[in-house]
Amino acid sequence: MIIVYTLKELRETLQPLWNANKSIGFVPTMGYLHEGHASLMKAARVQNDIVVLSIFVNPTQFGPNEDLDRYPRDLERDTKIAAEQNVDIIFAPTVNEMYPEKMLSSIIPGQQATVLCGASRLGHFDGVLMVVSKLFNLVKPAKAYFGKKDAQQLAIIETFVRQYNVPVEIVRGETVRENDGLAKSSRNVFLTEQERSDAPTLQKALQAVKKLILSGVSKEDALLKGQELIRAKTTARIDYLELLEYPSLLPVTESSEELVVAGAIFFDKARLIDNVIFSVKGE
Ligand code: AMP
Repeated sequence: MIIVYTLKELRETLQPLWNANKSIGFVPTMGYLHEGHASLMKAARVQNDIVVLSIFVNPTQFGPNEDLDRYPRDLERDTKIAAEQNVDIIFAPTVNEMYPEKMLSSIIPGQQATVLCGASRLGHFDGVLMVVSKLFNLVKPAKAYFGKKDAQQLAIIETFVRQYNVPVEIVRGETVRENDGLAKSSRNVFLTEQERSDAPTLQKALQAVKKLILSGVSKEDALLKGQELIRAKTTARIDYLELLEYPSLLPVTESSEELVVAGAIFFDKARLIDNVIFSVKGE
């Protein structure tokens, strides 16, 4: 495994592999790796000749009052986890390396970014598309791996890649969870002991909403029940709890086949998100 920090080193490392037509599987992350990231690396390892992992806490996807400065970082630990997954190349650039000059153009996502996290984190998905498209151009992967844990991000990236004919295949990874159902997240380290024991309620509430919807309860009543559960069992403030069609993220209609029930809650020092994607047939 090799770690590169600059665009030049990355290009020099990849050039012979591009020339030899090696298939590259790419896993973009913000580091502080956990089993969710590892499952994406595993899938990439099986499906490609070469696995590239990027570790970059991307400032353009953080709002002014968000946790950019205190986002957890530990490159040494990340390196060990990547080595265990037989990653070939880690790309860990500095902010200056990725953004040497002020960005003068943007890729603006459409209606999919106006709901859920897009509504409460203005500009977040502009920043995501900015860094993801830069990384795709730098790595030129055949396949890129994204987790369903960030269902809205995945949907927006899939749309961008399809509609802009970006030559990469997006592969979806299942959400990896702790034993009690809490989705693994780098931000879980910010939870107090009490918050950590309450946090699985988010997934329980989302599952409860899914069950109610499938049993014919109205969207409004099902979401209210989910909210009640979170209020009763946690100290968290609810950012949103919503049911939409997936992956369009449009309102649910009679013809919707796949749905997502998604939630975001604020604990004292951590905002957690989670979702359940399911078919109206109950799968
Ligand atoms: P992050 O480092 O949080 O930006 O995440 C990098 C990638 O890992 C994204 O595609 C995430 O969706 C994915 N990811 C994060 N947490 C999980 C999880 N618990 N299970 C599966 N994938 C995840």
